[in-house]
Amino acid sequence: HLVLSRLTKSFGAAPVVDGVDLSIQEGEAVVLLGPSGCGKTTCLRMIAGFERPDSGEIRLRDQVLVGGRTFVPPERRRMSVVFQSYALWPHLSVRENVGYGPTTAKVGRTEVRRRTDEALAMVQLDGLADRYAHQLSGGQQQRVALARALVNDPALLLLDEPLSNLDTRLREEMRSEIKRIHRSLGVTMVYVTHDQAEALSLADRLVVMHSGRIVQVGAPEDVYRHPRTSFVARAL
Ligand code: ATP
Repeated sequence: HLVLSRLTKSFGAAPVVDGVDLSIQEGEAVVLLGPSGCGKTTCLRMIAGFERPDSGEIRLRDQVLVGGRTFVPPERRRMSVVFQSYALWPHLSVRENVGYGPTTAKVGRTEVRRRTDEALAMVQLDGLADRYAHQLSGGQQQRVALARALVNDPALLLLDEPLSNLDTRLREEMRSEIKRIHRSLGVTMVYVTHDQAEALSLADRLVVMHSGRIVQVGAPEDVYRHPRTSFVARAL
C-alpha cells in the first residue's frame, strides 16, 4: 500500500502541504477534497514524482519512492495520472494514443495491441479505436486518457480533477464509469477534486484538506454526518 509520512512542501514562505500523514490500502479509492489552493494537487504531484517534497517520505508497497536521499523518478513509479486536460496527441489514432506509453515501448507489437484493445474495451471505446483523437467528444477523449492510464497496469491510478472540463450530464456518466472501472480492476486510486458530489460518490475514504493539512479522514457518510469542524461541514 501507499504511505505518506510528514509530507511537506513550500513554494514560498508558507507551506502548501504541511505535514501530511496518510496511509492508503491496496485497492482503496481515496478522494482528496478541499477548496482551491488547499494543496491537494501538490500532494498528488508529489506522489506522482512531478514535485519533490521538502521533507517527509512516500512509500509504495514497502519501496521508498521519496525520502532521505532517495528519489524514484516518475517513469519508474508504476503510476498513471489522468489530468483535467486530456493531453492526447491529435494526429494519432485512439489506439496509438493509448499504446504510446514508455512501458509499452518495451514489449512487442502484438502485446501492445492486446493490452491497448483490452484497455479500450474497459472504457467502452472499442468501436472508435481507429478514429483520430481530435474527432472525439470531450467525454470520449477523457475515456481515451483513462484507457491510456490503465494500459500499463499501474499499481496506483492518480486522477486530478479529471471531470471538470465536462458538462454535468457527462460528469455523472464518467463518475459511474470510473467507479465501475475501479471496482472491476481493484486498482488503488487517489482522486483529487473540489466537487462534493464527486467526492461522496467515489470515495471509499474521504480526506478533507484545508491550508495544506488534513482536517478529517473517514468513510464519506461518516464525514458527512459527523464533520469535525465547521470547515468540513461547509466543504460537504
Ligand atoms: P486547485 O484545485 O486550484 O488546483 P489545490 O488544492 O489543488 O487547488 P495546489 O494546486 O496544490 O492546490 O496549490 C496550492 C498552492 O500552492 C496554491 O496557492 C498555488 O498557487 C501554489 N503552487 C502550486 N504549485 C506551485 C508552483 N509550482 N510554484 C509556486 N506556487 C505553486
